[in-house]
Amino acid sequence: MRKFERIWIVAIIAGALLAGLPIVVVERATNAYIERNAKSRLESFAHGALGLADARLDQTANLLVDLLKVKVEDCSAVSMETMRRALYGAAPAREIAVIDDDGRMLCSTAGNNTEQRAISREVTQPNRPFALAVMRFRDHDERALRLRIERAGERTLAAIIPVNGLLADILPAERRGRRLRLMLEEGDPAQAEDRSLEYGQTIAATVRSPRFPIMLVAEYSRVAMAEEYEDVLLVARLFPTVVSFFLILFSWLSVRRHRVDPASALHQALDAGEIVPFFQPIVDVKTGRLKAAEVLARWRRPDGTLVMPHSFIPVAEKTGQIYELTRILMRRARDEVGAAFAVRPSLRLGFNLCAGHFANATIIGDVRQIFTGSPISFKQLLFEVTERDPLPDLAEARRVISALQGLGCKVAIDDYGTGHGGMSYLLKLGVDCIKIDKMFVDAISTERYSQTIIETLIDLARNMRMEIVAEGVETFEQVEYLRSKGINTAQGFLFAPPLPASSFLALVEAMEKPRLSVVESEPSPLPAVGAGAA
Ligand code: C2E
Ligand code: CA
Ligand code: CA
Repeated sequence: MRKFERIWIVAIIAGALLAGLPIVVVERATNAYIERNAKSRLESFAHGALGLADARLDQTANLLVDLLKVKVEDCSAVSMETMRRALYGAAPAREIAVIDDDGRMLCSTAGNNTEQRAISREVTQPNRPFALAVMRFRDHDERALRLRIERAGERTLAAIIPVNGLLADILPAERRGRRLRLMLEEGDPAQAEDRSLEYGQTIAATVRSPRFPIMLVAEYSRVAMAEEYEDVLLVARLFPTVVSFFLILFSWLSVRRHRVDPASALHQALDAGEIVPFFQPIVDVKTGRLKAAEVLARWRRPDGTLVMPHSFIPVAEKTGQIYELTRILMRRARDEVGAAFAVRPSLRLGFNLCAGHFANATIIGDVRQIFTGSPISFKQLLFEVTERDPLPDLAEARRVISALQGLGCKVAIDDYGTGHGGMSYLLKLGVDCIKIDKMFVDAISTERYSQTIIETLIDLARNMRMEIVAEGVETFEQVEYLRSKGINTAQGFLFAPPLPASSFLALVEAMEKPRLSVVESEPSPLPAVGAGAA
C-alpha cells in the first residue's frame, strides 16, 4: 500500500505538471500572436495617418506655389485678403506668412505679429523646394508646422499648419489607447506631450514620410491592447484549461484502473499465504524468564517487504476478512511454534481478537477446531479483547469469554485505559488479565496521573484476582517503577520486538530449557499481581 501511495503521489505531480504545460504554452503563443497582430495593425494605422498628413501638406504646398505664381507675395492689404480667401478652402493651414530672403517673417494673415515663433531648426529637402520647422501656434500651447517654399534670394510664402489639424479625423474610435506623435525627421517633436491618457507600457510603430521630412510614431498602450484582445485571451485560456482538465481526468482514470482495491488485495494475500504471524515475547522482569508471546499479524509481500497491521487490520475488520485472517494466524502459529510450546507447557500464546469476535460463538468453534489435539493446549492460549473499539453486546461478549474460559483459555483486556470500557468492562466481562496500554507506561516518568491510574489498577486487579501485563516497555526506568509496584510481567522493545517464527524459536531455545513436567501441576504461568513483590 505504501508503494501504491507513492505511485499516486508521483502520478498527481506528473499530472499537475503535464496539465500546467498546455496553459503555459498556449498563453505564450497567444501573447506573441496578439503582439504581432496589434503591431501590424498599429503600423497600418500609422501609415494611414501619415498618408493623410502628406496629402494635406501637399495641398498646402500647392496653394503656396499657386499664390506665388500669381505674385501674391507681399504684405499689401489686397495680397493679405487673397491669402485669407485662399485659406478658406485649404483645410489644415490656418495662416499664411510672407518671409523675406533672410527667412524673417514680414507679415501674416493673422495680423502683423511677426515675432519669431519657431522652436526647431528648419529642415529642408534635397530634391524638393520645401522647408519644414516646428513652431508655436499663435500663443497657444499647440504646435504647428511651418511649411516654407524655398526661393533662393527672393521673398517667399510659408503656411502655418497646426499639428492637430494635420492629424485630425483619424478615426476617433480607432484612437482608444493609441497616440500619434509627429516629428521632424531630425527627431524634433512637433507636438506637446499628450498627458490626457496614462499609457503605461506601450508597443510602438514608426513610419517615415516619402514626401516630406516628417515621421509618425504610433503607440498603443498594453492595457488597452489587453482589453481589446480580451476575448482572444479568454478563449486561449479556456482551451488549455479544458485540455488540462481532460489530462488530469485521464491520468486519474488510468491510475485508478491500476489501483487494486485493498479488500481484494488482502483477499489475494490471504490466499497466497502472505499473512504471517510474528511473535513478541512477554517476560518476567524479576526472573528474566520468557512467560508468553503475543501473535502479531504481518503481511509479507512477495518482494520481502513487511506491511504493518495498521495498514490492513482495519480493512480486514471492515470487510469481515478478519475472521479468516485470525484462523490463518492461529493455524500457522500452531504449526510453526507448536513443537516448542508442547515441551514448555507453562509458555502461553496470545492472539488478538476484534469486537466482532465477541458478537457470536464462531470463535469458540474455530479455537476448538484448530487447537484440539494440537501441540499447543487450550490452557496455553490467551485471547485479547481490545478496549479501543466498543463491544456491541456486552452480555454476548460475556458468554463468548466464559466459553473460551470453559475451554481452559485465558482472556485479557488489551490497550486498557485507552477506550470505551474502563471500569465496567473489568466488572462485567470477567477477564483474567489486563494489559496496560503503552500510553500509561510512557507517562510513568512524566505524568503523575499515570502513576495514580496504575496504582488504582493494581489495587483493583489484586482484589479481582487479575493479572497485569505492561505493554510497550522501552526503558529500565519503566521496569524499575513497574517492579516497585509489583508488576512483573512486561512486553516491549526493551526485551524484544515482534519476531518472525525462526528468530522467536531461537530465542525460546536460548531462554527456556524444555520442561516436560505435567501441565496440570504447573502453577499459573502469569503470577498473580504483587506475588513476590518486595
Ligand atoms: P497491540 O495488540 O496493542 O500490539 C502491540 C503493538 O505494540 C504491536 O504493534 C507491537 O509491535 C507494538 N509494540 C510492542 N512493544 C513496543 C514498544 O516497546 N514500543 C513500541 N513503540 N511499540 C511496541 P503492531 O504489531 O504494529 O500491531 C499493532 C496493532 O495491530 C496491535 O496492537 C493490534 O491491535 C493490531 N493487530 C496486530 N495483529 C493483529 C491480529 O492478528 N488480529 C487483530 N485483530 N489485530 C491485530
Ligand atoms: Ca494485543
Ligand atoms: Ca495492546
